[in-house]
Amino acid sequence: MPSEHELYDCVVIGAGPAGLSAALNLARARKRVLVVDSNRPRNAATMISHGFITRDGLPPHELRRIAREELALYPSVEVLQRAAVLAVSRSESADSGDTAEWAERFVIEITGATPSAARAVRSRSILVATGLRETLPALPSIRAYYGMSLFSCAACDGYEQRDQPLALIGETDDLLERALLVAQWTSALTVFTNGVAPLSVADEAVLAAHGIRLDRRAIDDLEGDRGAISAVRMADGDRVPVTGGFVRPLWHPVVDFLDRVALATDEHGHLTTDRDGRTSAPGIYAAGDVAAPGPQQLIVAAGAGARVAAIITHDLLGVTTAH
Ligand SMILES: Cc1cc2nc3c(=O)[nH]c(=O)nc-3n(C[C@H](O)[C@H](O)[C@H](O)COP(=O)(O)OP(=O)(O)OC[C@H]3O[C@@H](n4cnc5c(N)ncnc54)[C@H](O)[C@@H]3O)c2cc1C
Repeated sequence: MPSEHELYDCVVIGAGPAGLSAALNLARARKRVLVVDSNRPRNAATMISHGFITRDGLPPHELRRIAREELALYPSVEVLQRAAVLAVSRSESADSGDTAEWAERFVIEITGATPSAARAVRSRSILVATGLRETLPALPSIRAYYGMSLFSCAACDGYEQRDQPLALIGETDDLLERALLVAQWTSALTVFTNGVAPLSVADEAVLAAHGIRLDRRAIDDLEGDRGAISAVRMADGDRVPVTGGFVRPLWHPVVDFLDRVALATDEHGHLTTDRDGRTSAPGIYAAGDVAAPGPQQLIVAAGAGARVAAIITHDLLGVTTAH
């Protein structure tokens, strides 16, 4: 059982931009906060991040480092790095229906880098900011190019690839929409379905009307050097030259540590929240990529973290003002 002193106002699970931004704002509201992070951010594959006002072009690990440095100035925040939340349960007082008593609402089991770092803490609220895991199409060397010359977020990395011959590789049914987005940055775009993505004849006509080529053949692998893609090699041996592009991963929120509190999710596994970040369980909140889909960008996640921090602060006080 956790000891008396390990009681937090909020345990923030995940220290990407969503969790770090929430922690900063909770700290400024004088809340006692524990941030737990397993240090596996989605954008670890890339060297440079774009589109975050005042930080455009900064390495993503640097963005997190600066945020942790800022948090260190607030004594009511602790950050556990290379640690992971294994399970969240309701505490006994919450189970007994004692709704007036918020003080022991949740027990959070944490594992650290060593067995002795394992601990359990209690918290009045929880913020889930654990991001997403990605599965890329199964091409042998795709990971060597991902984050270097092949990206997933057109808004994040389209500008640097403007006016180049680009690939869009994917196996899902939303490739048409994604192709129209990417075509903002280049007039030389080829969509590769790898023989899988279900694009209709009507979709093909829309692509053609926008000057976008469609290649429905199976892909053997990608070619290039030191992360710089130079061609998509087809299973029939043909090579289609490109200098960059985008891939459509499958995205999976990994939230099995929440099994005991059984939160509502959408059909893709994202945690369902109201517009303020409240999940289906009172006292548990979600922000960033793990929550229902929207633009997957650093500044959007940071904004969601700041917003949910205000809501948590209000909810802990029982205050309902929207401002
Ligand atoms: C290749 C690539 C390039 C990108 N480039 C850009 C860009 O240029 N600009 C931009 O705006 N966006 C970019 N993005 C998108 C951006 O990285 C995400 O939208 C953003 O990181 C989401 O923030 P988050 O806080 O929700 O999650 P994340 O940043 O993914 O952070 C989640 C954290 O939670 C931790 N975690 C997970 N489970 C647990 C657990 N059980 N216990 C403890 N910790 C846990 C993870 O280790 C991770 O550190 C890019 C993404 C990729 C994949």
